[in-house]
Amino acid sequence: MGFSDFHGNSETVHRMRDMLAHQRLPHAVILAGPRGSGKYTLALMLAKAMNCLSPTTTNGLPDFCGQCSNCTRIAQSEDLESRCAEAVDTREHLRETDKKETRILVQTHPDVLVIPPDPPQMMIKVDQVRRVIESIYFRPGEAKERIYIFTDSAFMKEAANSLLKVLEEPPEFATIFLLAENPGELLATIRSRSMTFCLGALSAEEIERYLTRHRPDWDTKQRSLVEGREKIEALLRTLYSLLQDIMFLNSGTPGLVRNTDVQDELKKLSESADFAWVAFAADRLSEVERGIRRNLLRSLSLDAFATALERR
Ligand SMILES: [Zn+2]
Repeated sequence: MGFSDFHGNSETVHRMRDMLAHQRLPHAVILAGPRGSGKYTLALMLAKAMNCLSPTTTNGLPDFCGQCSNCTRIAQSEDLESRCAEAVDTREHLRETDKKETRILVQTHPDVLVIPPDPPQMMIKVDQVRRVIESIYFRPGEAKERIYIFTDSAFMKEAANSLLKVLEEPPEFATIFLLAENPGELLATIRSRSMTFCLGALSAEEIERYLTRHRPDWDTKQRSLVEGREKIEALLRTLYSLLQDIMFLNSGTPGLVRNTDVQDELKKLSESADFAWVAFAADRLSEVERGIRRNLLRSLSLDAFATALERR
């Protein structure tokens, strides 16, 4: 257990652990990278390394034991989807008046706070940042370093401005991680007060190597199913960007089109696709995405998507 469990991006991980060893890791860190690149996993690993009660070293760099009470409590935040679902469920059962004032937060260790986007808008809200401000200036109780992990870069305006104030003078004993698929979404002033580390997506070979090592019981077919999931996710991202391009063409801003290699086809499509159709398609696409997250049979979800569009 330790950083050897992290896959890919070894140079970046090495650099961050080296900074940690020399106490040079900044108080505000942007972890940028596509979905599945391990931003959240890495942030939690660094949180453990900073707070492990029996810290170890591997390859001469700081590591964590994974067994002590700090490591194990932080590890309870690993299954972010379940922790968020629990928090949302708890909120659903509150009285109406309390519901409005309750924000989704994940905290499995008193000094480590995970801030996910708050539903239904799925954005970071000012009340969530307020919870950060309430605690960040107090010394940690059981850890050495207070850790805050914002899992998304979509901030409401007021929330972003509040965070900016914290970043202007962060306390010595706190580290804030900002995870971003697209760091450009963050305020330029937030970016300039943070250090950005980029994680690349894992290649098919890296995934294959990982699965061979960690799931030796799986046969080739099972392994390729997992790789299939990565491919499907890449396909979904492409479909989204094609829909967006159609929107750009429809709204008379062809200069913003990204998939220029298929511009002619997109133009033809945009002539028969109005805003309502694009909105409908984007909606169905997000249903497919949710289905895949719930692990429905992938081809089935995509087939349903195609059928829905044909009917339209
Ligand atoms: Zn530990």
